[in-house]
Amino acid sequence: KKLSIGILFGGRSSEHEASLASAASVLKHLKREKFDLVPIGITQTGQWMTQTTPYELQGAYPDQIHHPPLQGQSPNTQVVDISTHGLPIMQHPLSSVTQKIDVIFPLLHGTYGEDGKLQGLLEMIGIPYVGCGVLGGAISMDKEKTKQILQSIGLPVVDYKAYRRAELERNPEAILDDIEERFDYPCFVKPANGGSSIGVSKVRSREELRKAAHLATFYDHKILVEKAINCREVECAILGNEDLQASVVGEVIIRDECDFYDYHAKYIEPSTKIIPAQISDNLTYEIQQQSIKAFRALDLTSLARFDFFLEKETQNIYINEVNTLPSFTEDCMYPKLCEASGLAYPDLLERLIELAVESYEDRQ
Ligand code: ADP
Ligand code: MG
Ligand code: MG
Repeated sequence: KKLSIGILFGGRSSEHEASLASAASVLKHLKREKFDLVPIGITQTGQWMTQTTPYELQGAYPDQIHHPPLQGQSPNTQVVDISTHGLPIMQHPLSSVTQKIDVIFPLLHGTYGEDGKLQGLLEMIGIPYVGCGVLGGAISMDKEKTKQILQSIGLPVVDYKAYRRAELERNPEAILDDIEERFDYPCFVKPANGGSSIGVSKVRSREELRKAAHLATFYDHKILVEKAINCREVECAILGNEDLQASVVGEVIIRDECDFYDYHAKYIEPSTKIIPAQISDNLTYEIQQQSIKAFRALDLTSLARFDFFLEKETQNIYINEVNTLPSFTEDCMYPKLCEASGLAYPDLLERLIELAVESYEDRQ
């Protein structure tokens, strides 16, 4: 019997477009002989739609697209709005999907998709889903909480401090003073909950700091300021629930003209990836071990991508962040790392669905 897989894409986060690209790739490569696919789009305003595709969702409100990563057109099908408006409150958006869904594959990056909120909804409904659960997603989405937990188990993180939007608004100059006292320029400013480098800035002066703080608070109620590390960026994929597999390590080569690994370097002119990274075996092993430890400490299941900074001068490594639903087109780092470790993209998708069912049964 074929399993019916609900593919969720779009969504309310700043990473809406990246999600469309991930979903388009997954829809293309999931094995049709094993799975029935039910695409479910979520608009930027949070309306759930069936019988749509990532391409159509992108076309649904062209004015709001900042950086469309999808090219080409797909055949027209009817878009049906199944928003929750008007439904009794105990009904959930999926209840309007008539076709039975066995497993949800959320390809929603960022807030409302990667941060435990969707996972809470799916737990209540009782549908298995790909990716980690409520707690792991919520912690890993929050860069401050992630660092606190990683520090508590002795893993190296970059020097950082969190500031709340409310305190910045109340007394901006005092907060800027505090930041300048604590950090040298350049430093990084980012939303605590974010992704795809949206709202992240490298700042070199108080003026830039003021603007960067303002930008980051547009995306989140809490921001992080971090010491800037002069680094190479290396990443490791973890796959599994109980028996964890760490992939080979990959490196992103950021072009000289890019200030850092920003949205442009991620999606518009994608940076070159070197897999495996040209680093020592010891360093590779260390990165894999730290990723596995962090995966456990953060209460994760299924998959996660751990991103590290490798400081050029010292060869020190720091865990920068963890992505529990990393960008997922076939050319993205997570699938590429798995492929280099022996798992082709369609097999990876199938494995993730197996892991979803396994972890669902484990939680019953
Ligand atoms: P996101 O979740 O949006 O990817 P990151 O924290 O990974 O946020 O920041 C995006 C990019 O910004 C990183 O890949 C890196 O290029 C740069 N960056 C962020 N923080 C630092 C830092 N402390 N030192 C050096 N580069 C940084
Ligand atoms: Mg991220
Ligand atoms: Mg990142």
